Parts: sequence; structure tokens; C-alpha cells
Amino acid sequence: MIVETHSPEETRSFARGLGEKAVPGTIYTLDGDLGTGKTVFAQGLAEGLGITEAVSSPTFTIVQEYDGGRLPFYHFDVYRIEEPEEMEEVGYDDYFYGDGVCLIEWAELIRDIIPDNAIHVTIEKDPEKGFDYRRITIENTGH
Ligand code: ADP
Ligand code: MG
Repeated sequence: MIVETHSPEETRSFARGLGEKAVPGTIYTLDGDLGTGKTVFAQGLAEGLGITEAVSSPTFTIVQEYDGGRLPFYHFDVYRIEEPEEMEEVGYDDYFYGDGVCLIEWAELIRDIIPDNAIHVTIEKDPEKGFDYRRITIENTGH
């Protein structure tokens, strides 16, 4: 599925809709270049889960946990992972196979441990379509 947005608010509101519908154990991966809107997307998803706490990029930790919503929200940024063992140390399987909703930025770096049922989200710009245009591709390959 492809969704085209033309403002940060549109991206946020699309992600909010996903958050409202998310069920326990839902895993989203999130890829896209710097400045495409990954944080905007994460904020929308969190809003949809009923989280009122401010969501930013988890810069200093691999995973940031938000417990104030309808379901726990686990926001991963694995950019700084150098070897898969670091994910073991984090205890990733408790999150991936738990009762919350995971959003994993830079999931490409740990693709071997991403569960098959993950929903893959990619955000891209297209300079020809304007500064605020984003193409959001949602793929569920595992079923
Ligand atoms: P990332 O986390 O991917 O580095 P951010 O979410 O921090 O990116 O920033 C995205 C920037 O792009 C924000 O300044 C936002 O206002 C802007 N922006 C413009 N158009 C859009 C859009 N359609 N969707 C999401 N963000 C957009
Ligand atoms: Mg970000």
C-alpha cells in the first residue's frame, strides 16, 4: 500500500490511524533518510495509542518505552548497533514478542531478527513533487 502525504500533519494523522488500530504484538519497521519524517510518524503512532508523553528519537538508548497509552509502545532506534549480540543484551525478544507495539527505526541493520509478521514502512521524498511531499510505502511480506 502506498500513501502520499503533503504535510507533516498528514503523515502524523495517517500514523495516528495505525496507532488507533494497532493490536498487541504489532511490529512496524521504519526506514527513510534523515529528515523524511520518521519522528513525525512515530509521534503520530504514539498519539494513536493514546500516549500523551512527548516522543522524540531515542538518541541515547536503543529502545525507549512509553507506558501511558492503551498499549505499551516500544520505540527502537538501532542505528548505533554494531553487532546483533547487542540486541540480545537489550532483551529485544521480550519487546518483539510481547504485548506492546514496536516501532523499529533503521531495522535494515538487524533484518535477520525482524519477525516475519512485521509491517514495513518506508518514507521517501520526491523533489519533483514538492518540498513537503512524502511517499509512505507499507508492506506486509510475512502475512
Ligand atoms: P526523521 O526522523 O526522518 O529524521 P523528522 O520527522 O525529524 O525526520 O523530520 C521531518 C521534517 O520534514 C520535519 O521538519 C517535518 O515538518 C518535515 N515535513 C515536511 N513535509 C512532511 C511530510 N509530508 N511528512 C512528514 N514530515 C514532513
Ligand atoms: Mg528522527
